[in-house]
Amino acid sequence: MFFGGGQECAPLRNSALPLDSMNIEEKVRKTLAELGLGDAEAIAALFAEVRAAMAGERRELIERGARDEAERDAMAKALRDRWLARKNGLLAHLDENWLKKASPELKPAVGRQFNELRRAASTLEVAELARDIPLRSRAEARDESAPSLPAVDEPRPSVRPPLKDLTLPGYRRPLGSLHPITQVQREIEDIFLGLGFRIETGPEIETVYYNFDALNIPESHPSRDDWDTLYIDSQTVLRTHTSPVQIRAMQKYGAPLYIIIPGKCYRRDNPDSTHSPMFHQVEGLAIDADITFADLKGALDFFARKFFGQETRTSFHPSFFPFTEPSGEVAISCRFCRGEGCRVCKQSGWIEVMGCGMVHPEVLRHGGIDPERYTGWAFGLGVDRYAMMKYDVNDIQLFFQSDIRFLEQF
Ligand SMILES: [Zn+2]
Repeated sequence: MFFGGGQECAPLRNSALPLDSMNIEEKVRKTLAELGLGDAEAIAALFAEVRAAMAGERRELIERGARDEAERDAMAKALRDRWLARKNGLLAHLDENWLKKASPELKPAVGRQFNELRRAASTLEVAELARDIPLRSRAEARDESAPSLPAVDEPRPSVRPPLKDLTLPGYRRPLGSLHPITQVQREIEDIFLGLGFRIETGPEIETVYYNFDALNIPESHPSRDDWDTLYIDSQTVLRTHTSPVQIRAMQKYGAPLYIIIPGKCYRRDNPDSTHSPMFHQVEGLAIDADITFADLKGALDFFARKFFGQETRTSFHPSFFPFTEPSGEVAISCRFCRGEGCRVCKQSGWIEVMGCGMVHPEVLRHGGIDPERYTGWAFGLGVDRYAMMKYDVNDIQLFFQSDIRFLEQF
């Protein structure tokens, strides 16, 4: 699924480890070194086990159902806290012991797995669980009064498997797949995770300050216009780019900082074959001492070759963005005509794929970082457009119409 996932050539995990007798609670309290796991393959297996346990516990609650709303909410909260509680949840221990204490060589692999797990764990939020746990009050009350059925024990508040007839055949559910946008987003993320970046996300409903002012976008800039931006009130917008997360991350972590920011963005565009009022961006930000434009070119050239193929050439042109100085556009050599000129590249031989630049000192200052000490580069790209290029899709709307005939091709 990920580029680079199969790069490390690791020996198979010894299946006779005492590990197998330990439960999840015990494992997350040990470091990977203490668990004797030293290669990416063993770590992937371990995370797969955690994800399976998480999915299993969730499924158990849903199969069991709740007597009433109060019981349902209590069940949902208990499972959520077990996994996601900030202080003592399983993921908190896992972050502390597996991710933070991972060796530098293993950190990218562990980080990738951890991010995937965190994403899967969003299904354990109370609202999500409460939505999925059925109330079985009425149906069961009727069943219990029916003389032909055996009485059902009052369910205890702890999690336990439901009563079922083991001789019945299992449910066969059609297997789903990741949405093409998600697949492309993860490919992009994975390339940067391999370079030591971490994933950072932020709110889609954003303040005008973070969306515009902190990014050096002045009051008079056209992107602030009602015609372009979806305002909730005069101080709140649906974010028009993922850039506000750059400021939030600078304020949260300071420098040095290497992050990749995927997410949904919104603009007041009429839907057509290349525009959608909701779209997806990935931004990258690198801040450190002595970062220069050469670092930017090197990293983005590496990325373009990884994503579009080793033979890809890149070309940088000057441009303007309020939040970077100098600013540039990156074009890649056209994959279809190899630079000869064709319909896709509009006869130019090049296709523009992202904007980039050196972070403006004013933006660093808003993030609480001293521009005399640190410099940085940033880029932003449209995931939907990358997916269109990768899969040769000619209408962006196809991604968001939930038509199974389209989606099952990926
Ligand atoms: Zn071409």
